[in-house]
Amino acid sequence: MEVNRIQVKCGVDTCNFYKNNYCHANSIEVNPQGSMKSKTSDETQCTTFIPSR
Ligand code: SF4
Repeated sequence: MEVNRIQVKCGVDTCNFYKNNYCHANSIEVNPQGSMKSKTSDETQCTTFIPSR
């Protein structure tokens, strides 16, 4: 099955998947922060983040 790919620009330079301002993970998951419903981008977070090694 062919998977549509998008480029994800990211500024989280402490993430293991970060490289040159872009995300290099095969896929990412983004969720609301905590249990509330997000109303602004500040209230979202990348769940795929892991600290760089
Ligand atoms: S996994 Fe999330 S935080 Fe990490 S580089 Fe990709 S988009 Fe950024």
